Amino acid sequence: MHVEQGPIRPPSEASSLLIRVTRNCPWNKCAFCSTYNGKQFSRRAIEEIKRDIDTLAMVTEQVRQISRDKGWGGRINGQVVSEAGAVYGYLHYHVAWWLYQGAKNVFLQDANSLILKTSDLVHIIKYVRATWPSVERITTYARADTASRKNPGELRELREAGLVRIHMGMESGSDIVLKKVRKGITAKQLVEAGQKIAAAGISLCWYIIPGLGGREHSREHALETAAVINQGKPDFIRFRTLAVRKNTPLYEMMLSGDFTPLDEDEAVTEQRLLLASLSGVNVTVVSDHVLNLLQELEGTLPADRERLLGIIDRYLDMTPKEKAIFQLGRRAGVFVNMNDMRDRNRVGYVENLLNKINSPEKLQAELARMRRQFV
Ligand code: SF4
Repeated sequence: MHVEQGPIRPPSEASSLLIRVTRNCPWNKCAFCSTYNGKQFSRRAIEEIKRDIDTLAMVTEQVRQISRDKGWGGRINGQVVSEAGAVYGYLHYHVAWWLYQGAKNVFLQDANSLILKTSDLVHIIKYVRATWPSVERITTYARADTASRKNPGELRELREAGLVRIHMGMESGSDIVLKKVRKGITAKQLVEAGQKIAAAGISLCWYIIPGLGGREHSREHALETAAVINQGKPDFIRFRTLAVRKNTPLYEMMLSGDFTPLDEDEAVTEQRLLLASLSGVNVTVVSDHVLNLLQELEGTLPADRERLLGIIDRYLDMTPKEKAIFQLGRRAGVFVNMNDMRDRNRVGYVENLLNKINSPEKLQAELARMRRQFV
C-alpha cells in the first residue's frame, strides 16, 4: 500500500493525518529556503488524491483490526501503534498514531494548496470529512499571493467545507526584505490575504523569521512586520529565528557581504521591537521552534504584552557571561528556557564548554554553526 507524502508540515500538525494535494512549491525561489530544491511543482489529479484517501481509509481499518485481534475491541493504544509500525511499516504507524491522537486533524500538503481550483479543493475537503466523520480540523499551507487572489466567496466555500486554518509563511512585512529574499509577495498582499481569510472565518497562522532582514534591515523588518500584523490580524504568529542554510542563495549573499546575519542578542532585540510595536491585535505568539533562543516567549496579546516583553528584558539584562552560557547551553540542548540556568550542574557543564571557546567572535561562529544543524 502506498500514498504520497510531502516532506514538511507545521510543528502544530504533529498529530495530523497528512494528505498531499499538490507536490512541492509553485514558487520555489525564496533565498532562505531549500526545502524543495530541484523539485518540480505539480498539481495532483483529484482521482489520484481520492485514491490516496481510500488507501488511508483501508489502513485505518487494518489498524483497528490489529486492535481487535489483540482483544482491545478496535480501541487504539500505544501497543497498537507500535505493532502497526513493526508489522506493516511507516504508513500504518502514521495512521495508527493519528487514530491514537483522536483522528481529529488533517493537514493538506504541500507548500500552497490554495493554488488548486477552489471547487477541486472543496471536493477533496468534503471527501475527507465523508471518509472520517471524526475529523474536526482540516488545515493547510498557502502563499499570500494565491490567497489574496481568491474572492471572498471562494474562501467562505472552503471554510464551509471544513478548512479551519491556513498556515502562511509571512516571513517579513517589509517590502525591502521580502524583495531581497525573493519571497515573491508584498506587504499589501499579506494584509489583503489576512483580511480576506479572517472575513471568511478561517483561522490564520503567520510564520515570521527574526533576523531575515540581517543587520542591514533589522529595524524595518521589525517595524514593518508589526505594521502588517496590526492590519492583517492573524490569530497566531509563530517565530522561527533565521539560520542561514548552506545550499541557499542567502548563504551566497552572506559570503559576498550582501547580507549580515544577526547575532543572538540582535535577534532577540529585534523580536522585542516587533512585539512592542504590535497594537490593536488579538494574537497568540508562539515560539515552538528550537531555533528561537527564547522558546518561553509564548502568550496572547494584548493581555500578555508586558509579560512577553519582560521575558525578553530578563534575557537582555543578563551579564555578558550569563548570556554566553545561556546561548551556548540552548544551542547545545542543555537548556530549554532561562529557568534552567538555576540548575548549577547544567551551568557548570556549559561553563566547561565555554572555556574551550576563547573569544566572543568564535562563540558567535560556533552558535551559527550549531543553529544550522537544526534546519
Ligand atoms: S514559498 Fe515556502 S516552500 Fe516555497 S520557496 Fe518560499 S519558503 Fe520555500
